[in-house]
Amino acid sequence: MHILILPGDGIGPEITAATVRILNAASHRFNLGLVLVEDVVGHESLRRYGTTVRPDLLDRARDMQGIVLGPTATYDFKDETKGEINPSKFFRKSLDLFANIRPSKTYEGFPGRIGAFDLVVVRENTEGFYADRNMELGNGEILVTPDVAISLRRITRQCCERIARAGFELAMRRRRHVTLVHKANVLKIADGMLFLDECRKVAAEFPDVTVDDVLVDAMMAHVVRTPQRFDVIVTTNMFGDILSDLTAELSGSLGLGGSLNAGIGYAMAQAAHGSAPDIAGKNVANPYSLILSASLLLAWQGRREGKPEFEAAARAIDIAVEAAIAAHEVTSDIGGRLGTSEAAMALASRLSDPGRDDPQRRRA
Ligand code: NAD
Repeated sequence: MHILILPGDGIGPEITAATVRILNAASHRFNLGLVLVEDVVGHESLRRYGTTVRPDLLDRARDMQGIVLGPTATYDFKDETKGEINPSKFFRKSLDLFANIRPSKTYEGFPGRIGAFDLVVVRENTEGFYADRNMELGNGEILVTPDVAISLRRITRQCCERIARAGFELAMRRRRHVTLVHKANVLKIADGMLFLDECRKVAAEFPDVTVDDVLVDAMMAHVVRTPQRFDVIVTTNMFGDILSDLTAELSGSLGLGGSLNAGIGYAMAQAAHGSAPDIAGKNVANPYSLILSASLLLAWQGRREGKPEFEAAARAIDIAVEAAIAAHEVTSDIGGRLGTSEAAMALASRLSDPGRDDPQRRRA
């Protein structure tokens, strides 16, 4: 498997280096034959090539089987005519990576503030309120007069149907419960007639999955009060973006927010958070967000290609993360004392020692 590695901005290079270390350790132990090819996006690319993401990078990406994209300083990139393109948007839109899978769970040894939980936010990734990407041409944000702006939210039956299907398929591999999160009391057409309607049509094909729905504002209270009540949460783009930062932080830290952007034939691992300029360059960022994202990419590849060794590698990474958190061999945001690179080295050494974190052996 060839993977394009794009470190990005802020803490991106630090957590990407940590992730490369783990991918190499996993490749070695499970004979995955991973080939990691590094290139640049974001400020480094703007400096070198006059654009935050080069068009030919898409061709490079298409020749490989996945991407690891570090966070980029998207807020800095304001004018596409000056080469300031949001790399995240560029790949999600160009490769039609419509399903953003964002798991959040608590860990033994760092249980979080509100008890144990294990849920996944399944967020539509290609339309909704993301006005910079929901148009075929141009931008869906318009300055009508200097004092009046309009931002368009696009919702289509096709995108609702496919995100619902991704959510129900995932629920069949988990606890078989889907919660639809929406604002159909106000957005009666987009969220009521299209999103809910399409989700319920898909639900009818999955009679073994329990379905309920919650208004997005009430969801903020429910997920803080009783996150245990949720398994798979299916929602539109911006609601999912906001909700998944909350669930990651509830699990202990935004630095635990793993995330996979998946399409039909392509996937991109990308942490749920941003480039965190407040902690960049200090070797304190938690690398687990991107490491767990890379694990999701390996598992996705394993399922898609029917290669059990990839799924085994993903499981081993997740088990090593659980064990490292239990042993407090982690960064300070989740109660440890290690720096970013030391946490990655500790995790790599766990991963390279088969049996060390074997659940049977740990119980003995
Ligand atoms: P952020 O997500 O970067 O950071 C929010 C808070 O979480 C900060 O206090 C930060 O220190 C902390 N945090 C984030 N990741 C962490 C980690 N791995 N370990 C420990 N703590 C972590 O949000 P922001 O500061 O508002 O945004 C910074 C930049 O990132 C902006 O330019 C924004 O546009 C961009 N952004 C990019 C992406 C992306 O590349 N996908 C996503 C969101 C934001």
